[in-house]
Amino acid sequence: ALTAGIVGLPNVGKSTLFNAITQAGAEAANYPFATIDPNVGIVEVPDDRLQKLTELVNPKKTVPTAFEFTDIAGIVKGASKGEGLGNQFLSHIRQVDAICHVVRCFQDDNITHVSGQVDPIDDIETINLELILADLETVTKRFQRVEKMAKQKDKSAMAEYEVLKKLKESFEEETPARAIDFTKEEMEVIKSFHLLTIKPVLYVANVGEDEIQNPDENQNLQAVKEYAAKEGSDVITVCAKVESEIAELDGEEKEMFLEELGITESGLDQLIKASYHMLGLATYFTAGEKEVRAWTFKKGMKAPQAAGVIHSDFERGFIRAETVAYDDLVAAGSMTAAKEQGKVRSEGKEYIVQDGDVILFRFNV
Ligand code: GDP
Repeated sequence: ALTAGIVGLPNVGKSTLFNAITQAGAEAANYPFATIDPNVGIVEVPDDRLQKLTELVNPKKTVPTAFEFTDIAGIVKGASKGEGLGNQFLSHIRQVDAICHVVRCFQDDNITHVSGQVDPIDDIETINLELILADLETVTKRFQRVEKMAKQKDKSAMAEYEVLKKLKESFEEETPARAIDFTKEEMEVIKSFHLLTIKPVLYVANVGEDEIQNPDENQNLQAVKEYAAKEGSDVITVCAKVESEIAELDGEEKEMFLEELGITESGLDQLIKASYHMLGLATYFTAGEKEVRAWTFKKGMKAPQAAGVIHSDFERGFIRAETVAYDDLVAAGSMTAAKEQGKVRSEGKEYIVQDGDVILFRFNV
């Protein structure tokens, strides 16, 4: 399963945020894919459409979809020099599919900052530089192998050589790979390098508890937003301390608390949605009388693959997918009405599943 890794310097609020994630926790029994590991937190994906479908179908139970965050602790500075824990830090980042980079934007004199003062850009650059240096080493090693072959006019080696040159130049300017525009062909080559700085990043600005209503007044947050925009990354704002309090509340209690705070959506919910999006994930639904359920698939998946998310038998024996777009189903008011209006289509194995599809898979056992 795809996972987003949480990184950040010490004392920025990572553990507080990760605790909120595990507190809010999904029922692991519902998710057989779930990794049993104290560094992994499963979260349910908030989705208003699930509520609406439940009203339409009136099932015995409703199950949201879920995915995983991985807490990547460990020292950061000097990581690229490959010493002890530093090496481990990098290898953990290599295993995740996207990065949530927590940045301290809150002031609190009681909480020591590793470099003595709150400076989010300096913090971001400290981590990013370690990752860039590690990638530079990867690229340099690769260079040595490819150079000779490129000189002998080996076509694929020549293509690789050009990409490596482009990467090396940008790393030397301390620009991460994700900030560079590559063609589709170049991206194919880059995939095989397993670079750290090609992974998408979401900056998670941790602001003070008195700032969540008007976060934009926080100058540190503004600086992070400007920095992120330059490399094409997104930023969300949370107050980790408040999130850990919200995570202990359920349904109505949670809504009342949010109202008191003057916000409509918790930072954690925003983090979940933004990370889901960053990982290239989307949701389809199954809606039977027994169960209405959301399922996660990777955008671009064809119907049999998406069916395999439910069970490998569904993929192996796939015949067709009877599918209706969520909006069409809701507009029609019921599955029967949607069928009468011709909104329910029968799709074959080449069909590319869309976010919001409500699907009944037909398969051979
Ligand atoms: P980590 O080292 O990045 O995992 O940081 P922690 O989550 O352990 O947080 C370090 C300290 O900062 C703890 O004492 C937290 O209670 C505190 N902290 C975390 N988030 C906030 C926040 O939003 N506001 C304030 N005032 N303190 C926070």
